[in-house]
Amino acid sequence: MSVLVVGTGGTIAMSGASGVTPTLTARQLVDAVPGLGDLPLTVRTLCNRPGASLTLADLGELLRLIEAEGRAGAVVMQGTDTIEETAYAVDLLHRGPQPIVVTGAMRNPTLAGADGPANILAAVRVASSPAARDRGCLVVLADEIHAGARVRKTHTSSVSAFTSPLGGPLGYLAEGRVHFVQRPETRFTLPPLPSSTAAPRVGLYTATFGDDGALLESLAAAVDGLVIAGFGVGHVPEGWPPVLAAIAGRIPVVLASRVGAGFVATGTYGFPGSERDLGERGLIAAGALDPYKARLLLQLALLHGATRAQIEAAFGAAGGLGAAAAWPWSARRAAA
Ligand code: ASP
Repeated sequence: MSVLVVGTGGTIAMSGASGVTPTLTARQLVDAVPGLGDLPLTVRTLCNRPGASLTLADLGELLRLIEAEGRAGAVVMQGTDTIEETAYAVDLLHRGPQPIVVTGAMRNPTLAGADGPANILAAVRVASSPAARDRGCLVVLADEIHAGARVRKTHTSSVSAFTSPLGGPLGYLAEGRVHFVQRPETRFTLPPLPSSTAAPRVGLYTATFGDDGALLESLAAAVDGLVIAGFGVGHVPEGWPPVLAAIAGRIPVVLASRVGAGFVATGTYGFPGSERDLGERGLIAAGALDPYKARLLLQLALLHGATRAQIEAAFGAAGGLGAAAAWPWSARRAAA
């Protein structure tokens, strides 16, 4: 099956003697992979930037390119720093059945044991696999296949930096074969990005030990929506709730957990600053969405003009604490 391979930069494309920077084209990267030569690939370089500098507008361009090329699957090579976010955004915005597989490298091409070529080969294999259809955006590194909606970068430098703390990988590659071992029940998708509208500004603020919350108001004044990464199941210091309640009266405020895996609670604790207190004061529970993914969902929902009720329904569905059927946009059900 024909696959589109798109380069956007990142460590996988970096070279240089005094500090590596993205310089290599997608074609150069593909040509350096033994075993790819015979496969029907279309290769494009969209941009050459570190993952940290990619934007929502880049993702819009990427999705338009993928749609225009109309291949059976696509591989996106990108900086690993933001894969856990871009892959979720792409998963939300890609409505078609063809797999979009994001990959990258933890070791740049100048290093011994560079992992880029193996990751590109594995990603192309997954993107070519009929079993990968109707699964949205997948992330493939170190012979593991992760859901864009769940994957996290959980190590700064290991070649096995990508994990899915809630649920584990969707599959693996072994001897070049693609093996899926599970399928999330539902894919939630959004309408395409409008090409001209500026993205709403969504802030992310993490609860930390002893923080009196004095910065919350000034942050809230500069944003259209706010995500709080609370302690544990969704807790903040006892002085924060009145401030957060006032902010939640003006803009949507989502409560996620800074822990990195698991659901925020909604009805267990009753102390000031507990998840229950914050829910009663108008914060929206992120469920199992980590703060980074919650921030993207809120930004995209705002971009689509979602009402407060729609934002609540979206987080209930995507975060797993509410009804999947209440997702405000037409959801694409995963094939059985
Ligand atoms: N360390 C990053 C990478 O793996 C740098 C980046 O995201 O561009 O690609």
